[in-house]
Amino acid sequence: MTSIAWIGLGNMGSRMSAHLVSAGHDVRGYDVVDALREGAAEHGVTAVGSIGEAVDGAEVVILSLPKGEHVRAVLAEADGVFDHAAPGTLILDTSTVDLDTSRWCHGEAGSRGFRFVDSPVSGGTQGAEAGTLAFMLGGDAADVADAKEIVTPMAGNVLAVGEATHGIAAKLVNNMMLGVSILAMSEGSQLAQQLGLDPQAFFEVARVSSGDSWALRTWYPVPGVVPGAAANFNFDASFSAMLAHKDVTLAVAGAEAAGVSVPAATLIRDQLQRLLDDGFGGKDCTLVVREASPDGSVLGWDGR
Ligand code: NAD
Repeated sequence: MTSIAWIGLGNMGSRMSAHLVSAGHDVRGYDVVDALREGAAEHGVTAVGSIGEAVDGAEVVILSLPKGEHVRAVLAEADGVFDHAAPGTLILDTSTVDLDTSRWCHGEAGSRGFRFVDSPVSGGTQGAEAGTLAFMLGGDAADVADAKEIVTPMAGNVLAVGEATHGIAAKLVNNMMLGVSILAMSEGSQLAQQLGLDPQAFFEVARVSSGDSWALRTWYPVPGVVPGAAANFNFDASFSAMLAHKDVTLAVAGAEAAGVSVPAATLIRDQLQRLLDDGFGGKDCTLVVREASPDGSVLGWDGR
C-alpha cells in the first residue's frame, strides 16, 4: 500500500483516483470544489480540506488539473505541494499542459529534491472510468519505473516514452495528429456528400483504403454510419471542441517554438476556435465538419 495525495478530482481525477483506492492504496484527495471532494469520498478517497493535508506524509503526489497555470500554482504556491512534500516524493502530473510548464515542473521539483514524471493520459473519461487509459511517461528512468507501478491500476497501456517532458510532448503531437485527421475526415465526408455519394458506401471505401484513420473509424461525422459517433447524438460531446482546441493550441505553440511548420494543425485550431466563439465549445470536436458544409448545415445537428 502506498500513501497517495491526489489533487484535482474533476472529470478525470475522480474516476482515476477510484482505481487507486480499489488497488489498495491509501488515497487522500483535494479539490477546490466541495462537491467533488464529497463525490470522491463515495469512492473511498479520504477527502481533505487543503493541499497540505493531502500531501503531508504522502509518498506519491498526483495532479489532474485544468491547465499549466493551475499546475504551477498547486506545486509552488504558499502551502502548496512543494511546501508540504517530503524529500524524494514522487510527483506525477497527469494534466495536459504546455511544454514550458512541464520543463518548469521537472526543474523546480528536481532542485527541491523531489522526483517528477510527466504522466499525461489519453482515453478520455470513458478510459478513466474503465481504468484503460494510455499513460505517456517522461523523466528519469528509475522514477518512470516507479511511476509505472503506481499508474498501472488506471491504465490499459503505460508507455515509458523517454526523458523529462517526452511524455507530454508525445501527448501533444498525438493530439495534433488527431486534429489533422478530423480535418481530413470532415472535408472528405462533406465532399462525398455533396458529390451525391451514399455516406455508408463512401465510408466502406475509405475504411479499407488510403483515406482510413482512427478518427474516421471511430467518429465519422455523419449519422447512422459509425455507432457511438457524436453525429448520432446531435454532436453532443464525446471529446469536446474546447478540449480538442486546448490540445491543438498547445501543440501548435510547441511547433512554433521548435520552428516546425504546421499549417494543417493551425487550420483545425482556428476552426475549433470558431466553434468556441459561436458558443459550441461544449459540443463534440467533430462538429468542425460544419466548416466544410456549403451552407453550414450538418446532417444530424439541430444547429443549436
Ligand atoms: P476538470 O476541469 O473536470 O478537472 C480539473 C479539476 O481541477 C477541477 O475539478 C478543478 O476544480 C480542480 N482544480 C483547479 N484548480 C485547483 C486547485 N488549485 N486545487 C485543487 N483542485 C483544483 O478537467 P478534466 O476533464 O478532469 O481534465 C483534467 C486534465 O486532464 C486536463 O489537463 C485535461 O486536459 C486532461 N485530459 C482530459 C481528458 C478528458 O477527456 N476530460 C482526456 C485526457 C486528458
